[in-house]
Amino acid sequence: MNARLPLPLPPLLEQHLPRLLVVDDQPANIQALYQAFNEGHQVLMATSGEQALRLAATKRPDLVLLDVAMPGMDGHEVCRRLKADEATRDTPVIFVTAHSDEAAETTGLALGAVDFISKPINPAIVRARVKTHLTLKAQADMLREWVYVDGLTGVRNRRYFDEDLAVEWSRAMRDGTALSLVMIDVDLFKRYNDHYGHQAGDDCLRRVAQALRGCLKRPGDLVARYGGEEFVCLLPATPLEGAMVLAGQLHQAVAGLGLPHAQSTVSDRLSISLGVCSKPAGSGGSAAAMLRAADAQLYQAKIAGRNRVCGALLVGD
Ligand code: GH3
Ligand code: MG
Ligand code: MG
Repeated sequence: MNARLPLPLPPLLEQHLPRLLVVDDQPANIQALYQAFNEGHQVLMATSGEQALRLAATKRPDLVLLDVAMPGMDGHEVCRRLKADEATRDTPVIFVTAHSDEAAETTGLALGAVDFISKPINPAIVRARVKTHLTLKAQADMLREWVYVDGLTGVRNRRYFDEDLAVEWSRAMRDGTALSLVMIDVDLFKRYNDHYGHQAGDDCLRRVAQALRGCLKRPGDLVARYGGEEFVCLLPATPLEGAMVLAGQLHQAVAGLGLPHAQSTVSDRLSISLGVCSKPAGSGGSAAAMLRAADAQLYQAKIAGRNRVCGALLVGD
């Protein structure tokens, strides 16, 4: 059947220009670093520690070039705060300092800086060092990301889903919002493998994953491979009616692939069954109960004849 599909890169691994944050109270120093990195980088600039922290939190630079001596909050304090914040902890910091002072260097390294550069800067040396640390950062980001990616289909994996469900459940309880879960299972997939071969089965799962992912529009919506030929969608701030509409679209998207399934007893094309469970806004319960209820709805869809959607509200326990 289909040629092997390339593994799609998850969105977070898409390439972007490396983003540098240059922090120095002297505009002339910023200018020199800007000149060195203007090409091939996105350069953000801050002239105070406070401004640097704000930019680091909102713009998520890949690397920070940080002056040590600044009036008000100095570079060491900025670094300490960057390392204390979960959101910026992994951003590499390079100190740019006028003094070649061993004590200051030791302090900086102890605070978690990855390197030191002395002023006046030599553009070629600064570029080479920054390149090294950007490469290391990109590799670390990629490894962190791949831990959460399903190797076969390229969508998020079960580990990511489990963590995301816990986060979204807490958020929904805290904010009193709705939360919906859709469990998805490919119909009669054992027969598909038996008839077309395991390789074709794998290609089929990739296509199903991409079709499901293509239906999600909101940034918070998640599709993950739950295991085997089962997928799951988590839909924050979505009540049952909305989740049923989306489940219908997921169902149609897979039907729309038009993949032949000669051995299926429910359709001549590959089909899926879907179970939806929604926690209404302001109600209680537990994430585990919601997962069980979505699974029970999936079971209902299977026994009612497969190739359909069943859904229910979560009744708090
Ligand atoms: P039902 O409609 O009741 O869900 O029937 P089914 O055949 O889909 O369900 P069953 O649980 O009996 O079989 C699931 C099959 O999915 C078994 C296995 O061969 C196949 N499968 C699970 N994971 C993979 C995978 O990663 N690749 C391939 N090719 N097949 C898989
Ligand atoms: Mg199954
Ligand atoms: Mg199945």
